[in-house]
Amino acid sequence: MAHCCSDNEHDPLAKSVEEARAAILASSPALTDTEVLHLSAALGRVLAEDICAPQPVPAWPNSAMDGYALRSSDGEAPRKLIGHCFAGHPFTGVVGPGECVRIMTGAVLPEGADSVLIQELAEIQDKTILPQQHPAPGANIRQAGEDLQPGVAALHAGTLLRPAQLALIASLGMAEVKVFRRLRVAFFSTGDELRALGSTLEAGQIYDSNRYALQGMLQRLGCEVLDLGRILDDPEHLQNTLQQAADMADLVISTGGVSVGDADYIAELLGRIGSINFWKMNMKPGRPLAFGQLGEATFFGLPGNPVSTMVTFYQFVQPCILKRMGKSTPWTPAVLKIPLAHPLKKKPGRTDFQRGVLISGENGLQVAGVGQQASHIMSGLAHADCLIILAAEADAAPAGSLVDVQLLEGLV
Ligand code: AMP
Ligand code: MG
Repeated sequence: MAHCCSDNEHDPLAKSVEEARAAILASSPALTDTEVLHLSAALGRVLAEDICAPQPVPAWPNSAMDGYALRSSDGEAPRKLIGHCFAGHPFTGVVGPGECVRIMTGAVLPEGADSVLIQELAEIQDKTILPQQHPAPGANIRQAGEDLQPGVAALHAGTLLRPAQLALIASLGMAEVKVFRRLRVAFFSTGDELRALGSTLEAGQIYDSNRYALQGMLQRLGCEVLDLGRILDDPEHLQNTLQQAADMADLVISTGGVSVGDADYIAELLGRIGSINFWKMNMKPGRPLAFGQLGEATFFGLPGNPVSTMVTFYQFVQPCILKRMGKSTPWTPAVLKIPLAHPLKKKPGRTDFQRGVLISGENGLQVAGVGQQASHIMSGLAHADCLIILAAEADAAPAGSLVDVQLLEGLV
């Protein structure tokens, strides 16, 4: 295998982020197993069926404002107040010519009325209302079915359920939904130097931090997480772990050992027991990436440097996971254009994912780099709230230039 080239050297054989993501999505089949869940347990799941409204939403015409329900055709003539209605307490009579009913937001529009005059435009004299304006027909009324019509799909299969979708389903009165089962993801760290949290480090040893980043990212996506621990740089041990992981999970992730060093076995092992694409990525951080198939499981071998692990997870693994979870519209990190507060250094060659922070001040929204950008500097990523993406061919970026930004929170 060829040795990696220096940071600023462009490697014509390296894959771009977009090429790699497209190849990954093309070989990421959606789950087919489903289960029925109560709505209160369905956050973060993907719908396995269309949701159709059984009745119109709203079911009745109702008021959008506090005011008076009346007939528009009476113009600005005074109206006699004949009753009132509140949300959940309809007025049972009929509003006739020259009459009105006091109405609160959400209350059913009484029969006979076709308009709601807001209370700020009504002068009250004893039991009579003097409109200060001609109430237009349909004014301040929420029509029956204006949100959803019966029989029409309110949400389609393949929709990721976030709080707004849960509320929409609840507004239809549905207590249960059919969703895809959770994606099972097994992961492990590789490296003889890795030690458990709480142990005392000897020379050359480090704590295994990647596992905690992976666990957090996977939990946040609602995966069933299977932590297989720290595995030594030993081919036999690694092969057993890979096989065990593939037997129990839909997707397997390893970190470390994926490069071309003397203790890097992942790519070679995968070539032997599964099918493997080993890619040199034209990006920084995160040059080596292994992607392939291990039996029925999708496999990702992520680079070991903690920042590289997280950046490559976000760019490649997360889109794959969401597709495998059943999400029908492909997810890729959203990119915003934001001006740079300070210049950023860069050499042409690789797409750069620098860690950044958003600054909201008198110059509007701007973004700044967090300083140290090396791929082992975890404090930079921990203090960042976004990634600043500088194109492969780009040189240094001056202050004020518009750069591409991916937010690290609110990911899906
Ligand atoms: P590797 O990809 O195995 O060559 O590792 C690259 C760098 O990342 C080395 O400095 C490793 O010590 C470090 N590294 C690998 N795995 C982890 C991990 N699980 N937690 C923290 N650092 C790691
Ligand atoms: Mg290693």
